[in-house]
Amino acid sequence: MTSLDSLPLRADLQGAAPYGAPVIDVPVRLNVNENAFDVPEPVVRAIGARVAEVAASLNRYPDREFTELRTLLAGYLGGVLAAEAGESGSGASELAGARIRPEMIWAANGSNEVLLHILQAFGGPGRTALGFVPSYSMHPLVAQASGARFVGVGRNADFTIDPAAAVAAVREHDPDVVFLCTPNNPTGTRTPLEVIERIYEAARGIVIVDEAYAEFAGSDFRSALHLLPGRERLVVSRTMSKAFAFAGARVGYAAADPAFVDALRLVRMPYHLSSLTQAAACAALEHTEELLAGVRALVAQRERLSAGLRDLGFEVFDSDSNFVLFRGAADPHALWQRLVDSGVLIRDIGLDGCLRVNAGTERETTAFLEALGAAVEQEP
Ligand code: PMP
Repeated sequence: MTSLDSLPLRADLQGAAPYGAPVIDVPVRLNVNENAFDVPEPVVRAIGARVAEVAASLNRYPDREFTELRTLLAGYLGGVLAAEAGESGSGASELAGARIRPEMIWAANGSNEVLLHILQAFGGPGRTALGFVPSYSMHPLVAQASGARFVGVGRNADFTIDPAAAVAAVREHDPDVVFLCTPNNPTGTRTPLEVIERIYEAARGIVIVDEAYAEFAGSDFRSALHLLPGRERLVVSRTMSKAFAFAGARVGYAAADPAFVDALRLVRMPYHLSSLTQAAACAALEHTEELLAGVRALVAQRERLSAGLRDLGFEVFDSDSNFVLFRGAADPHALWQRLVDSGVLIRDIGLDGCLRVNAGTERETTAFLEALGAAVEQEP
């Protein structure tokens, strides 16, 4: 059998490990930050109808500019901005939906591909990307796949970002790309807009704010979308995989200055979003309310998880996301294995003493808390 070592692999990829959340078939899967709820039946029917409509024209390439999808995504983000501005009682007119125009939107097969496009355009060989670790494990992998070097800068003990230390690190490393993730995976921590602004001011390169979990954040969360006007090096990436319960469809998107979006056209493959994907995503976005209905239930389960974990004596980090990070297992990997043995899969992210678990349905969350209670009793 041929081994990887015998192939003429790029030098910078030799010895690298691929993204690899374990895939284990157990009844309760709370390990990859999915949305626990199935797509609601009326939305399933709408998607089926839209997909059927395009099936006959699959002989043709899709709309390369995904015009309708872009328009619907711009409308959705405009609504997010208006709602947030309304809640804070300020600037509603300045930040109204019209500020997110379709030409400010990019979309791709998952926000992972959006990130890849950004790194292909702004990273690449000889360039540097910087992120605040621990954070999403794909950020360094995507940077390295583009040929860029990744520098990880530490966070405070509670996983917040120290603004002065962040600015100093940006000045020291002078990165071409800065990754921010708010709410942060795997810690659930949010980064305030003031901190993002300071990092943006300090940076020469582009600043990516990965908001994959924004919809799960508390009502006082403010999206970095508010910062877009006048900041042409800023990009806010989002996904339909989490709040929209649409991970299987692979639709991620981003908002930025139209010139920034133009840069991504230089690196994407032509027709990267299939007609099927565009049709399914458009149908889903026409049913945003039904799809997002599960968010509140998941937030309630997240709160239940946090309380249950604290009752069991774990240290629990405040989460604005659909998962919770907790610390205190004597042997996290052994605890993870005991949970797998009882049919519950969570995530061992290899962070000292920590494990991460997703908010599931009420039944799944109960199953986890019960299995954990039993497993903790077996701890040495
Ligand atoms: N960003 C973050 C922070 C994530 O946690 C994930 C998925 N785990 C993604 C991006 C990518 O999601 P997708 O490609 O499904 O949009």
